[in-house]
Amino acid sequence: MAQIAFIGLGNMGLPMAQNLLAAGHQLSVFDLVPAAIEKAVSAGAQAADSAAVAVKDAEFVISMLPAGLHVEDLYLGSDGVLASIQTGTQLVDCSTIAPETARRVSEAAESQGFDMLDAPVSGGVGGAQAGTLTFMVGGSNSGLEHTRPLLEVMGKNIFHAGGSGTGQVAKCCNNMLLGIQMIGTSEAINLGIANGLDPAVLSEIMQQSSGGNWTLNVYNPHPGIMENVPSTNDYQGGFGVDLMLKDLKLAAESALNNNVATPLGSLAKNLYNLHSKSGSGKLDFSSIIQLLKSPGS
Ligand code: NAD
Repeated sequence: MAQIAFIGLGNMGLPMAQNLLAAGHQLSVFDLVPAAIEKAVSAGAQAADSAAVAVKDAEFVISMLPAGLHVEDLYLGSDGVLASIQTGTQLVDCSTIAPETARRVSEAAESQGFDMLDAPVSGGVGGAQAGTLTFMVGGSNSGLEHTRPLLEVMGKNIFHAGGSGTGQVAKCCNNMLLGIQMIGTSEAINLGIANGLDPAVLSEIMQQSSGGNWTLNVYNPHPGIMENVPSTNDYQGGFGVDLMLKDLKLAAESALNNNVATPLGSLAKNLYNLHSKSGSGKLDFSSIIQLLKSPGS
């Protein structure tokens, strides 16, 4: 069983840590929020007063933080992970951050003799709880094989995207496509309703036709068509508008840095931004269908 330092026990990190504990691993945990540490402790983890203390004797460091600046601060800060770990510690960041930031941090780790993977996830809080996340891993093959048994506790699908940063690139591309698809599906359903179609009938037709896609198959944005999806639950739970907006901003930043045209990605970013600014930031991202509704419909 491995000695793991787990940093960042939020919506995603806590259930991931709980699954590692349930599989018999030893966890030393740290979060800025004491209540989050307490929850992990009650599942069997050891509390640490700081990230530096948590990582001191770890064989693996796993982090699950909100954004790139938190990751840079955690690993590169003066009292950070790189300054505190023992020789041979494997580093794994599961946060969703810019590919460029992931590469910068992993290069700093490598320059000090450490192997670091970027391993962002897809599958949301439900997937984190069930241990069925998809991991998109960037970094060395040997680092991935060393870490695979832990990833298999937390996830179902583990993809090696390529070298450092490519896990984040894959995550960016996937979520940009998802954001665009949700808008396209919403527009089509709104158009059908405005023309007198039953949205359930239209959804079934499109599902079986060339417009079929993941949002129609498992995440219909119109309330009442599917059970157990956020749209049928007042857009509560699921994947928040603000998280989708964050990922679309990362995609736009990466497109700019690499001189790639992503006009639909930019438009999707602007629409989710408008939706967030109108007070819907905490709703599930499928609520974008409401923003796109014509007045009175
Ligand atoms: P969250 O805000 O619930 O949790 C982040 C945790 O990190 C918080 O508990 C916070 O206190 C802690 N933290 C921040 N800075 C810290 C530091 N320096 N040291 C220790 N702890 C620190 O976020 P989340 O929903 O768990 O998401 C985490 C990451 O996973 C994000 O990058 C997000 O984009 C990504 N993600 C989230 C989902 C989702 O559905 N929530 C899905 C896929 C990917």
